[in-house]
Amino acid sequence: MHLLLERLSKRFGRNPPAVDRLSLAVPRGAILALLGPSGCGKTTTLRLIAGLERADEGRVRVGGRDLTDLPPERRNIGVVFQSYALFPHLSAAGNVAFGLEARGVPRGERSRRVAEALAMVGLADLAQRKPRQLSGGQQQRVALARALAIRPEVLLLDEPLSALDAQLRDGVREEIRALQRRLGTTAVFVTHDQAEALALADLVAVMNEGRVEQCGTPEEIFETPATPFVAGFVGRSSRFIGVVEAPGQVRIGGIALAAAATPPPGPAQVFIRPHHVRLDAEGGLPGRVVTRAYEGATALVQVDLPFGPLLAAVPAGLPVRPGDVVGVAISPEALRVFPA
Ligand code: ATP
Repeated sequence: MHLLLERLSKRFGRNPPAVDRLSLAVPRGAILALLGPSGCGKTTTLRLIAGLERADEGRVRVGGRDLTDLPPERRNIGVVFQSYALFPHLSAAGNVAFGLEARGVPRGERSRRVAEALAMVGLADLAQRKPRQLSGGQQQRVALARALAIRPEVLLLDEPLSALDAQLRDGVREEIRALQRRLGTTAVFVTHDQAEALALADLVAVMNEGRVEQCGTPEEIFETPATPFVAGFVGRSSRFIGVVEAPGQVRIGGIALAAAATPPPGPAQVFIRPHHVRLDAEGGLPGRVVTRAYEGATALVQVDLPFGPLLAAVPAGLPVRPGDVVGVAISPEALRVFPA
């Protein structure tokens, strides 16, 4: 593993810990997304890796080296912040050179690396512009060039796209991804946008209250959530309280449903993903359509069942309208069942 976080903890004052015995392992060249709600400790984790905060406990290792007690400038870690944090009085080139100067890179080598980094992000021609003469996307690319110029062993990105408008965001996201792949840089990025995390990352760590609830590939996180928090946070789902009656069988309200996997018998929370629900099943559970929202290729339909409202994502062409009674089928794979 290239980047290892071992039981990192950080507490500010008397508050509950912002980061609580957090462990993570990122292979060389991979992108890890830290995903979670506001205040769950994502930025603090990033700052602990960069050395901008001191850990109360735990270790940070990169390439086998223990960095925990080193100051930021001796860590060789590049950081791109949400606000580009460029110096307004310096040109693009001056901003990129700054970090190299701070690290004592000699002048000749410095200008070579500045040119190289600006070329990587496609800004060679705009090297002499000041930040205010650049667009938001261009400024973000300067910030990226500045982080890459130090040839970081790990690149950290804190919501790097959130200041950009939606269209620009997709473009810059693809550029960052392509560049990261080409350079083989290990990267950690923070986001609260799950679509972004699932699209961009090799590994996603879902955080809650300073801890990692689950770390896995985007598919693992989405299809096999390890905890109720992950099931509820990632993707859309309907949630019910029920009872596991026997292996593979859950009762919700008065209705018994088959489930592919179940915990031991007892009270349970059940999550059902909309895309695993069909509304055109012969002999299915009768449900009444309440709302239908067109979403392009699919429509999101809410149906009322005896045990409560259920969301279904169906092909947009399926002719269902509010008021219709439909046959609802829920495949056993659709149910994610956790002890309540
Ligand atoms: P967001 O998505 O809103 O940026 P986050 O997941 O990045 O949130 P952090 O910024 O890491 O969360 O904050 C975690 C917790 O630590 C929060 O409760 C926050 O208020 C607290 N915190 C962060 N920095 C400090 C600080 N310097 N002093 C006191 N409390 C802090």
